[in-house]
Amino acid sequence: MTTADAHILAGAYTLDAVDDLERAAFVRHVGECPTCAGEVAGFRETAAHLGAAAAVAPDPGLRRRVLAEISQTRQLPPRVPAEPAVPARRRPWRKRALIGIASVAAAAAVLVGGISIGLDHSVPGNPVPVADGGAVTSAPDATTVRTAVAGGSVSATVSRQLGKVLVAAEGLPPLDAGHAYEVWLTGAGAPRSAGLLEPGGIVQAPLPAEIDGVSVTVEPATGSLQPTTPSVVDLEVS
Ligand SMILES: [Zn+2]
Repeated sequence: MTTADAHILAGAYTLDAVDDLERAAFVRHVGECPTCAGEVAGFRETAAHLGAAAAVAPDPGLRRRVLAEISQTRQLPPRVPAEPAVPARRRPWRKRALIGIASVAAAAAVLVGGISIGLDHSVPGNPVPVADGGAVTSAPDATTVRTAVAGGSVSATVSRQLGKVLVAAEGLPPLDAGHAYEVWLTGAGAPRSAGLLEPGGIVQAPLPAEIDGVSVTVEPATGSLQPTTPSVVDLEVS
């Protein structure tokens, strides 16, 4: 018999409606449960009042109604101070669950961080991190201009102090095997070839003082001595 079972026996015990085992258990219980001791005292008082009133003949339907009501009423134990309710063996499960939730949260944070880091590479205006162009892009006077081209972009970084220009392509449409992008330095005089440019590649070239523009054209794969098609990119460099 649990403590909760013993609690609800107070009424039955008072009316002597318990069996020997229940009586023994409740007597043991009531010795250490002030709540049930108080209930027994109250029930005895009520029973005495009921006994005094027994001389009055009850309504013939009372017993039937009481029994019907009892069958619909759930019996509850009295309110007592709370017992330790959480079995110790449940705690490891809860702890594992919390650790699991924390792990998922941490993994999500790492995933979001990874996406953010990946996006940083595509932020326009950042210097293109290439080893052989580092001197130009990190020069104190370096300036970069960029323009979007057919789903990609071309940028030109110039350093007058170094006398160099770095042209970088990103995501240009690929060309067939017979053609290539060619970079031209423009200004006073005829355009000068700075070299062929891969769709995602770079070209670095000396930058004479009279050059104030960079253009890109589509030329035969072996390159041309001068532009033969309209430029697909025109950049003005300072
Ligand atoms: Zn009790």
